[in-house]
Amino acid sequence: MQLAVCPGSFDPLHNGHVEIIARASNLFDEVIVAVSSNMHKKPMFSVEERIAMAQETFSYVRGVSVKPLGSGLLTDFCKEVGANALVKGLRDPKDLGYESPMATMNRHLSGLETVFLAADGRYTHLSSTLVKEVHTLGGDVAEFIPRAVQRRLQDRRR
Ligand code: ADP
Repeated sequence: MQLAVCPGSFDPLHNGHVEIIARASNLFDEVIVAVSSNMHKKPMFSVEERIAMAQETFSYVRGVSVKPLGSGLLTDFCKEVGANALVKGLRDPKDLGYESPMATMNRHLSGLETVFLAADGRYTHLSSTLVKEVHTLGGDVAEFIPRAVQRRLQDRRR
């Protein structure tokens, strides 16, 4: 059984994340979406809300589950759940520059491999930060995010 972990803060989950996770689920028997609470900036959504949004979004996708990442090392989490690999999406060379030392560090720490998937052209402009910014300034972000996230963003506006 091949298991992949897709880690991130998902604050909030957007369609670029959803597409990468769905593609990972075609490559692996099981995928765990690992929601990090260890953020530098104050998140818009609590870790519980971010987990709930991901669970609702992937409830119909076979083999995908959602777990909190906790505050420890990602490689320890992967060992605990028995993961064979990490899966990350790359939007551009900047993402590669940021992700590649982390991938090498994780491999040196525990032998864990990272699989990079090139982001689909429809989503290369998407980031959680931009989605939040556009929403906060009154823009419509519905086409960039799953329903579970839309509902919570609308609730925040009321
Ligand atoms: P962070 O770990 O920086 O908080 P995010 O929660 O924003 O990251 O994203 C988690 C992962 O999703 C990133 O490591 C990246 O691999 C991937 N990702 C983010 N945005 C996109 C996108 N638009 N298309 C494809 N993959 C993405």
